[in-house]
Amino acid sequence: MKKDIHPDYKLCQVSCACGNSFETKSNVEAMRIDICSACHPFFTGEQKIVDAAGRVEKFKAKYNMAK
Ligand SMILES: [Zn+2]
Repeated sequence: MKKDIHPDYKLCQVSCACGNSFETKSNVEAMRIDICSACHPFFTGEQKIVDAAGRVEKFKAKYNMAK
């Protein structure tokens, strides 16, 4: 590798919205994420709607699909 042209590859603290946190390696020191391997439906097997902007509610309201 060439010297001085690569960003630092350092330990990175990742914290997820579900409360889980873990370390990985990256060129940034910390990351905040919305979903991780502990809470992603693929790994939990649960149904979970990832809806940050209320789009599901808007869709339901639009087509009268109230709960
Ligand atoms: Zn998570």
